[in-house]
Amino acid sequence: MARQQRIVARPWSCPEQVHGRKAVEVLRPGDGCGIEADALVTQRDDVALAVITADCAPVALSSPEGVFAVAHAGWRGLAAGVLDATMEAMECLGASRVHALVGPCIHPECYAFTPADLEEAVALGGEGLRGTDRYGRPALDLPAGVCAALRRAGAVVDEVSPTCTACSPDHWSWRAERDRARQATVVWRDARSGR
Ligand SMILES: [Zn+2]
Repeated sequence: MARQQRIVARPWSCPEQVHGRKAVEVLRPGDGCGIEADALVTQRDDVALAVITADCAPVALSSPEGVFAVAHAGWRGLAAGVLDATMEAMECLGASRVHALVGPCIHPECYAFTPADLEEAVALGGEGLRGTDRYGRPALDLPAGVCAALRRAGAVVDEVSPTCTACSPDHWSWRAERDRARQATVVWRDARSGR
């Protein structure tokens, strides 16, 4: 908690992530904790929206109208449509143009899938997920799949982190290390700068 408050001093909203589709609107500071959801959306400038990830992708979204969101997207969440749900929730609050940043997640180099599992993931989550690992074997390309889903839903992808959580020594990974710790991605708006 003390560490959180040094990053941004206000109650953090952090849902109970279930690899589902649900995006929840945060109406008051600290709301959304413990709710089963994989995305939080708000237009308030006194809240902090957070998701916890290891190998899944954290996505930060914002609009010029001041509506912003954070989402947790692994391939199951992509298949469930979590980014579509997030975009819909933002549009409901008046977002017109949505810009997205994709944070550190596992990259295809480290994410080999059996051909059958990859076909299943691609069938559910889109062709963007198809990749190859560092040895040329079939692999899931999560950042590409996330970008494809964001663009399909109408977002502009401004930045994709080049960091792979599985082989970066500075990031936690479940797949590579069975790490028990996680990254937190927190998004908030600075009322003074409007960003
Ligand atoms: Zn890697």
